[in-house]
Amino acid sequence: MKTRTLKKDKVNIITLGCSKNMVDSEVLSGQLKANDIDVVHENAKRDHNIVVVNTCGFIDKAKEESINTILEQVELKQRGKLEKVFVTGCLSERYRGDLEKEIPGVDAWFGTMELPLILKRLDADYKAELIGERLLSTPSHYAYLKISEGCNRTCAFCAIPLMRGQHVSKPIEAVVAEAEKLVKSGVKEIMLIAQELTYYGLDLYKQRRLADLLHALADIKGLEWIRLHYAYPAKFPMEILDVMRERDNICKYLDMPLQHIADPMLKAMKRQITRQEILDLIADIREKVPGICLRTTLIAGFPGETLEDVEDVKRFLEEVRFDRVGVFTYSHEENTSAHAMEDDIPAEEKERRAQDIMETQQEISLEKNQEKVGKVFKVIVDKKESGRYLGRTEFDSVEVDNEVIINTDRKLKPGDFVQVKITRAFDYDLEGELITQPV
Ligand code: SF4
Repeated sequence: MKTRTLKKDKVNIITLGCSKNMVDSEVLSGQLKANDIDVVHENAKRDHNIVVVNTCGFIDKAKEESINTILEQVELKQRGKLEKVFVTGCLSERYRGDLEKEIPGVDAWFGTMELPLILKRLDADYKAELIGERLLSTPSHYAYLKISEGCNRTCAFCAIPLMRGQHVSKPIEAVVAEAEKLVKSGVKEIMLIAQELTYYGLDLYKQRRLADLLHALADIKGLEWIRLHYAYPAKFPMEILDVMRERDNICKYLDMPLQHIADPMLKAMKRQITRQEILDLIADIREKVPGICLRTTLIAGFPGETLEDVEDVKRFLEEVRFDRVGVFTYSHEENTSAHAMEDDIPAEEKERRAQDIMETQQEISLEKNQEKVGKVFKVIVDKKESGRYLGRTEFDSVEVDNEVIINTDRKLKPGDFVQVKITRAFDYDLEGELITQPV
């Protein structure tokens, strides 16, 4: 079948997995644009002739989604709808050898650190001067800012260090310069991300420098909200809490995955922290930053987990009352140290435990949302959906936390900051009345 050829290449980037992968796709598209190559993200119009699938290789479900997406694109190519299919990202980094044999329809596979090679295959030159520049795939009022790559931790269940390598911090100047460019382009809110945020600086400066980085970012005029994701609990740099308390534009928000609370599980997971140390840390964090919103992530079904361990997690949630919780089911990942253990919890039982834990959190989330009724919050407007504006408070990050339904007959636009009086609370959302025009 004659392949449909376009006069000018148009590249569609499909991004799977986490926000760190999304930043990589944005950097790739920034480079392509600078080479005068047409580039789009998740192109629904399908008027492109080349696809780059930026994959995730973290856990089973993510790997399955990545492989299905690759197969879909290869099938489109076989039907003459595409000319080239390229694959990059974590799945490719981890399984390139096997995948090359299993899916020959892909034109080329790239690792997580091979941007110049991908560009070369797309007839583009890598432009070092563009460091920090990217084509945002998020709405223009917020962006993710990756402050480091890789991870030096050895969590037993985690394959990320296999795909992203050792921890490499970006210099403070480079992170600040990237943030300034984002703010100049209209970004008002930045989510700071990394594999392990709190390790920042230990490799480059031989000391933790996240607090210094936060001060430097908070000095940027026009940057309204700075949000911290992926903090690690062990050896937590308490000094960042002082910066969070002192600087108005650092959200009173902390995402700190804990993965579990039962000591036998924390030990088996190699989390380098104990139950009591976690409880003390959370108490200290709340004392240092009153009213802080705490988000965490937990794993259900790790090898050897007992029903008592699951009850322990539920008691812990009732005791600590996190604002936001996400639960993953354990995925038995080869080449991780946990892979040597027997994956003894059946898949349905893992799902049941995850559901059980989330049901405990659902009640807590509703109660905490009900406490907000009658109060006024600064809200950033994200979008209009079925005639209603949706936004978030400083206590809600994008895509993973609560949304605020804003009732108003006034015209608002994404990125506006408004004051909203909460009138109704739901398990994971809030509703309220606009009380002032955009500030
Ligand atoms: S800190 Fe996070 S990225 Fe690093 S090994 Fe542990 S779970 Fe994986």
